[in-house]
Amino acid sequence: MNSLLSRRALLARTGLGIAVLAAAPLRAAAGAQVVVIGGGIIGASIAYHLAMAGARVTVLEAEKPAAGATMNSFAWLNAGNKRPRPYHMLNLLGMMGWHRLQSELGATALPVQWGGCVDWASDEADARRAAASVLAQQGWGYPIRSIEADEVTRLLPGITPGPIAGATFSDAEGTVNPVIATQALLRAAAARGAKIEYPVKVTGFESGDGRVSRVLTDKGAIAADAVVIAGGMGCQPLAAMLGAKVPLESTPGILAHSVSRPIALGRLAYGPGANIKQTADGGFVTGENFGVSKAPPTREVGEALLAKAASYVPAIRGAKLDFVTLGHRVLPKDSFPIVGHLPGSANAYVAAMHSGMTMAPLIGQLAAIEVLGGPKADLLTTFRPERFA
Ligand SMILES: Cc1cc2nc3c(=O)[nH]c(=O)nc-3n(C[C@H](O)[C@H](O)[C@H](O)COP(=O)(O)OP(=O)(O)OC[C@H]3O[C@@H](n4cnc5c(N)ncnc54)[C@H](O)[C@@H]3O)c2cc1C
Repeated sequence: MNSLLSRRALLARTGLGIAVLAAAPLRAAAGAQVVVIGGGIIGASIAYHLAMAGARVTVLEAEKPAAGATMNSFAWLNAGNKRPRPYHMLNLLGMMGWHRLQSELGATALPVQWGGCVDWASDEADARRAAASVLAQQGWGYPIRSIEADEVTRLLPGITPGPIAGATFSDAEGTVNPVIATQALLRAAAARGAKIEYPVKVTGFESGDGRVSRVLTDKGAIAADAVVIAGGMGCQPLAAMLGAKVPLESTPGILAHSVSRPIALGRLAYGPGANIKQTADGGFVTGENFGVSKAPPTREVGEALLAKAASYVPAIRGAKLDFVTLGHRVLPKDSFPIVGHLPGSANAYVAAMHSGMTMAPLIGQLAAIEVLGGPKADLLTTFRPERFA
């Protein structure tokens, strides 16, 4: 499979171009059968873009769509503090990609809550670090600015932020319901002929001459011209079956979800010790600033998280805890995405990363181009699996 992609895909070669072009320029060779392992946001986005290109796609998911890290994600779409620049760009273009996906799928099928994020610090040293970071981000063209304390309460009316040593506002950021987004992409892929199969666990591969020919599952084997491993934490053992290293670590993250309340928070709020959002259906979601959660995900822990959030957002007071989630971040060993063909396998491709909610639209688009034999994306050069070989 030298090129499963038509010449027209060559149009979609450079960074910004890839993010803003509709997926339509891609065209797979007739009958190309691609198996995508994993029905999280990354597998769903890759499957969608492959299906848009005309590939025959089968998604194999061990549990159910979004069952892994995706379901437990805070899903803040941002590129702010992400460094170095190539990583920042993947995230920024990922954010832009959500706009593209909304225009392709429709904002009703794929709701994204735009409105930006207000971030404030009570500690002088934290505020100085944030102000320096704002300057660096502005230098990369990121839409973020330092704001005064009165603007914090103007942007987040009714909040009680406590002492403010410094604050920032990034108006291009947003958030998405990770499960709804995953389902929307899989539905759109299915509408273009993709088969979404679950529960089906991939147990191995049949390969020869450096190519996978069949994917083995607990329900039987399936022939493949190309295989995409988008199994979250499952990427490591799956790649190992093909003799490749995809080293992942995981850290736990707990989020508390409240029952629905009248809408009070029009954008993301990131205060000391609490990141807070309110979903479109009114539920508040909060965690501890993306730290590593050491406690078990009990109701007591969830109630403490909600109480902390309520100290900033009085509308949360009295909102009952609905449920608590414990998610395991898909953390590549050096913290950066691992994306590309596996060393030693001409037709097996991997995509494993943290911040996958932000990057999913771009990763889906670039991966589809590369899986179908199109040009290698410059944007992914420093994120290849070869760095661990
Ligand atoms: C607490 C928390 C907060 C986060 N907050 C943010 C945030 O604010 N912004 C952001 O951008 N990102 C955030 N992330 C990260 C983001 O959620 C992940 O990067 C993203 O969800 C990863 O998606 P994925 O599809 O790669 O993996 P997953 O969602 O884990 O999906 C992988 C799927 O593969 C399936 N699978 C595995 N092995 C097999 C097999 N052998 N056969 C078949 N199927 C298999 C699994 O069942 C699973 O459904 C957060 C993550 C966590 C845990």
